[in-house]
Amino acid sequence: MTTDVERYGYVIDGDRHRPNDAVTVADPATEESFATVPEAGTAGADEAIASADAASKDWAEFDAVERGRILNAVAEAIRANADRLGDLETRGMGRPVSESRASARAAADYFEYYAGLTDKVEGKQIPLSTEGNHLDYTLREPYGVTAQIVPWNAPIVLAARGIAPALAAGNTVVAKAPSPAPLSTVELAAIASDAGLPDGVLNVVTGSGSGTGTPLIGDKRVTAVEFTGSTSTGTAVMQTAAETITDVHLELGGKGANIVFGDANLDAALDSVAETFSNAGQLCFAPTRVFVQSDVYDEFVDRAVERVEALTVGPGREDPDLGPVITADARDNVAEFVGGARERGAEILTGGEVPREQGHFYAPTLVAGVSDDAPIACEEVFGPVVTLQSFDTAPEAIERVNDSRYGLLNAVWTDQLGRAHRVAAGLESGTVTINDYPVLSPAAVSGGYEESGIGRSKGSQALDAFTQTKNVIVSMD
Ligand code: NAD
Repeated sequence: MTTDVERYGYVIDGDRHRPNDAVTVADPATEESFATVPEAGTAGADEAIASADAASKDWAEFDAVERGRILNAVAEAIRANADRLGDLETRGMGRPVSESRASARAAADYFEYYAGLTDKVEGKQIPLSTEGNHLDYTLREPYGVTAQIVPWNAPIVLAARGIAPALAAGNTVVAKAPSPAPLSTVELAAIASDAGLPDGVLNVVTGSGSGTGTPLIGDKRVTAVEFTGSTSTGTAVMQTAAETITDVHLELGGKGANIVFGDANLDAALDSVAETFSNAGQLCFAPTRVFVQSDVYDEFVDRAVERVEALTVGPGREDPDLGPVITADARDNVAEFVGGARERGAEILTGGEVPREQGHFYAPTLVAGVSDDAPIACEEVFGPVVTLQSFDTAPEAIERVNDSRYGLLNAVWTDQLGRAHRVAAGLESGTVTINDYPVLSPAAVSGGYEESGIGRSKGSQALDAFTQTKNVIVSMD
């Protein structure tokens, strides 16, 4: 079904480019196509890289405080446009509009946070044990042209999460917007340009992963890659980057757990289960496996069902609790996981159905009676599905949660302080939250253990991904 289709162009050198209208953007709630963007392809990627390359020396040598002022101006401009950006994001990927607008404001927070760090990228002085009299110090220098690959599941905030520290450290950026829901990332570049970011410092191209993403990453002028997406695509990105020995920072998939002990504040833990359905469960760090200590398991399950059945489902523009999932394929994939669990004898406590004919909706679903190795319990479903399992002891919970190829985020719920810290120490994940989920702040460093990624995002540590160390050794004789 087609409505008025707006033709968008990607942004290079601060200007819109529209060489073709190859990629259709559809609303997952209505299945209507409402926009097109170009497939930049090899030629578009080449042009964007040339622009970023030409701007690279000046931006690296820019006065650091002035660079921070510009990033602050970008933050303000994003904030001023947050509702428009959020509405675009809701239309493209289905998220409830209040969440999308909050996500756009969070994108502004990233620029503000890193604006404050532009003049704090510091080196070290190293005492050398050489016979001679040496001064040894390090400089942290930007890479130059960086490539960023953005996923569709929270595009504006994840684009900002990677772009802001890259720019703060003095790099230029070519970002590829996700194929579904590319518009907010494109608009981010236009807004940044209007706010005073020099031409070429941030370029955003559109197109598919293989048609535009691969030539971008494979170009030898690109010296560092920030990729956020699935673990399988992360493998392909690493392989492409290996051809030119390009540094890669990977933020990949997850299969996190909530571990709820019998002494926990169950109301708070149940809030967290309801929160896991945010963005229709399409969040990498969502703790979609819930392990509940056996003494409170039955009570917890009953109350979880009640909470989840109260969640509203509908088009994102109506601001329900859950919108649709991104595509018909994604919905079918979710249905396949649930169907497979059902066949293996699992109990579908609530949900487990397609609630509407139009749009890619799936009902919020709670599943019990699954083994740890069932696909629904160990693979990334990326939809509104949570499994409930019981456990008896802390060591058992740690072992079962760690028996996963992912390691992004786990949440622990207990009133015993010592136990909370012991469990946090034992969990193999880049983030552990205790008695809270989610905790979202640009300052809170995050990243993946095992197949959830390489390197760290957020916080001052993200600047490590976008700087390389030069050691300068001076003879003082
Ligand atoms: P995806 O891997 O399908 O795509 C991510 C991006 O990579 C898109 O822009 C896509 O066009 C591009 N791409 C695809 N193939 C490529 C290739 N060969 N070369 C270069 N680029 C290519 O992921 P998705 O479906 O967009 O996002 C969902 C996934 O992302 C989930 O697995 C989720 O857990 C993960 N994710 C991780 C984080 C994190 O911080 N760890 C955050 C958000 C999403």
